[in-house]
Amino acid sequence: MNVLVINAGSSSLKYQLLNPATGDLLAKGLCERIGIDGKFTYKPQLPGKEKLDAIDVAMPTHSEAIQTVLNALVDARNGVIASMKEIDAVGHRVVHGGEKFAQSVVITDEVMQAIEECNPLAPLHNPANIIGIKACQALMPGVPMVAVFDTAFHQTMPPVAYTYALPYEYYEKDKVRRYGFHGTSHKYVAQRAADMLGKPASELKLISCHLGNGSSVTAISGGKSVDTSMGFTPLAGLPMGTRSGDIDAGILEYLMKKHGMDIAEILTVLNKKSGVYGVSGISSDFRDLENAFAEGNVRAGLAVDLFNYGVKKLIGAYAAAMGGVDAIIFTAGVGENSASQRMAIASGLEFMGVVMDEDANKVRGEERVISAADSKVKVLLIPTNEELMIAMDTANLVG
Ligand code: ADP
Repeated sequence: MNVLVINAGSSSLKYQLLNPATGDLLAKGLCERIGIDGKFTYKPQLPGKEKLDAIDVAMPTHSEAIQTVLNALVDARNGVIASMKEIDAVGHRVVHGGEKFAQSVVITDEVMQAIEECNPLAPLHNPANIIGIKACQALMPGVPMVAVFDTAFHQTMPPVAYTYALPYEYYEKDKVRRYGFHGTSHKYVAQRAADMLGKPASELKLISCHLGNGSSVTAISGGKSVDTSMGFTPLAGLPMGTRSGDIDAGILEYLMKKHGMDIAEILTVLNKKSGVYGVSGISSDFRDLENAFAEGNVRAGLAVDLFNYGVKKLIGAYAAAMGGVDAIIFTAGVGENSASQRMAIASGLEFMGVVMDEDANKVRGEERVISAADSKVKVLLIPTNEELMIAMDTANLVG
């Protein structure tokens, strides 16, 4: 069975064609500048097939973008399948499922309506996801489609973890609560961790650290998310590449008055000019910051330190929340690649049974136990694979 995984943004669309049973990737790529001029990238994974790198293709709408993807996949010379019949289902990444969706779901008219009702919760993302779904439905009639939500995995959080201490009617009437994001990634690495540890997920307490440009940490007890660091929006929790993470809400009024900023301007500061970029004044990329620190830039060092410190504090908090932890997982760009940051985060946690293996930790992007043999709490490096998780959920639902 082959599943086409689609992640549609407002002007871009990422795609992968996968076999969820074997995990084999057949092709992947990207449509960019949809509605502007159109750039198409196609990377077939079969021998002898040639890739296309950011070539010009007119894409006035998502419909032309998806048609371009389908043409490439079945192309006589460089395609990876003989015909469209070899695409058995489509899995769509949808950012927000609100409280309506606690798991992935086969897309029907009612489901489309329910996703649209979640638009106010993710006004930049859900409408684009819906456009992607509609374009696929029009071009691939009869092919089952599944929606996989970033928020769904976290719907198991108890009220004590998701309720904000605001007047309760804001939750009841306006749906203001912690939702959490990166759910597909946290779910995937938690399943892999259970496999690596040889125990059922139902018996494990895990802390999953998804550390990338956007970052979140999740407490997973018995296979279920019980707390997570992102909140009503992905702006909450850790400091990120350019996002502030948690700050005192009182700062908003103070800065807005002092600098004559309106709400849009202060939100741009919080989303685009803060995080490790804001603190360092140099870059949102942790590699640049490590290099700058090595050359003596103190603020670059501070930015990395306060990020690592934030992750360490969440690990402590979630171990307390779950009454213990069996394994800590590192994943995503920083988690998979930065041995020094993993070490900085895990060091000092010996009191709670975390002992790193320095040599095992000197690795990038492969599944491995990176704690010492006698570490009570295992530390695992697990590359995330959200597309594979989406394809697996899709296959499970459409059979
Ligand atoms: P996104 O949230 O955009 O999906 P990724 O998970 O791809 O982000 O992570 C991107 C980040 O990973 C980059 O901003 C970079 O800071 C970080 N990164 C990648 N490689 C390394 C590395 N070798 N050392 C430190 N950080 C790295």
